[in-house]
Amino acid sequence: MDITIIAETQGDNLHPVTSQLVGAATSLGASPTVLCAGGAGADTAAGIAGVGKVLSVVGDCFSTFDGGAWAAAFDAAAGAGVIIGAASAQGRDVVARIAARRGVPVVQDVVAISQGLTMTHPIYSGKAMQEVTIGGDCAVTLRSNTFPPAGDGGSAESATVQQSGDVKIAVQEAIAKASARLDVSDADIIISGGRGMGSPDNFEHLYSLSDKLGAAVGASRAAVDTWDEIPHSMQVGQTGKTVNPSLYIAVGISGAIQHLAGMRTSKYIVAINKDPEAPIFKIADYGIVSTWEEALPILGDEIAKIL
Ligand SMILES: Cc1cc2nc3c(=O)[nH]c(=O)nc-3n(C[C@H](O)[C@H](O)[C@H](O)COP(=O)(O)OP(=O)(O)OC[C@H]3O[C@@H](n4cnc5c(N)ncnc54)[C@H](O)[C@@H]3O)c2cc1C
Repeated sequence: MDITIIAETQGDNLHPVTSQLVGAATSLGASPTVLCAGGAGADTAAGIAGVGKVLSVVGDCFSTFDGGAWAAAFDAAAGAGVIIGAASAQGRDVVARIAARRGVPVVQDVVAISQGLTMTHPIYSGKAMQEVTIGGDCAVTLRSNTFPPAGDGGSAESATVQQSGDVKIAVQEAIAKASARLDVSDADIIISGGRGMGSPDNFEHLYSLSDKLGAAVGASRAAVDTWDEIPHSMQVGQTGKTVNPSLYIAVGISGAIQHLAGMRTSKYIVAINKDPEAPIFKIADYGIVSTWEEALPILGDEIAKIL
């Protein structure tokens, strides 16, 4: 069962109830992904036992609470399946909005949950308890201090999806995080372009960046099939090449499963896409929600600084 947890945060820190949400998810046999608003508490969340992945969802909307904006940002970052949040005022608001966006059932203030998604929650202002079983995707909030917390000792992988309007900051952070993980001056790098590049002429931007970085240029099948100027030898994916560089930069690529098949084992993946819901962000270590026109020149400058 795929479960995504909306972490409960207090300022920059993780609220302890988040461990209880993880405890409930792991009791269902899941290895949940935890989404952290603005990256708050992400390091702590990665240390909770049983967490599969931590995703810092970063963007201007997280400077203040706005349920609609937070739900939109989390909805774009979360995969399908069950969404779990805390039954706090904030958690209930965001989770209900995500359910509405997805058209899935919402169950609030759950006090018991079991395999098969049978849940108990109060109705009529707590005068009665109702048991419901939900067959598929849904969104639920769990009452605090009801589920045993997961312990410490986890070491989940972390990633960031940056939805900030400030692309410069997003690119700088992407490169800083990449260089913390890799020796970028020594990294083998592939920059791949997709249909989002708009025309084969625009691949010149990728070639000039690759010259600066000593990188190779790849492409999606859509780019190769659409434009004669982009040779099939550049295609990455299931019916193209399988690549495994230290740094893979995907530009204007949606992230279809067949493309991911050829590059998902790359050590560090940066994705640039103007659509916050592009599936490539689900596997990127760092996602930049932007047009390539805005992000690429900044990327070139920032990488040149550290080479
Ligand atoms: C049997 C089979 C095998 C296949 N094998 C492969 C394979 O080996 N490799 C492969 O790649 N595909 C393969 N495909 C095709 C795959 O399913 C996708 O169709 C393809 O990967 C899509 O390429 P794309 O991401 O470039 O294009 P699209 O899916 O059209 O995505 C373009 C993306 O660019 C973004 N964008 C648009 N404008 C901008 C901008 N200005 N700035 C930033 N972002 C922008 C859009 O938001 C969009 O997400 C295969 C398909 C099948 C059925």
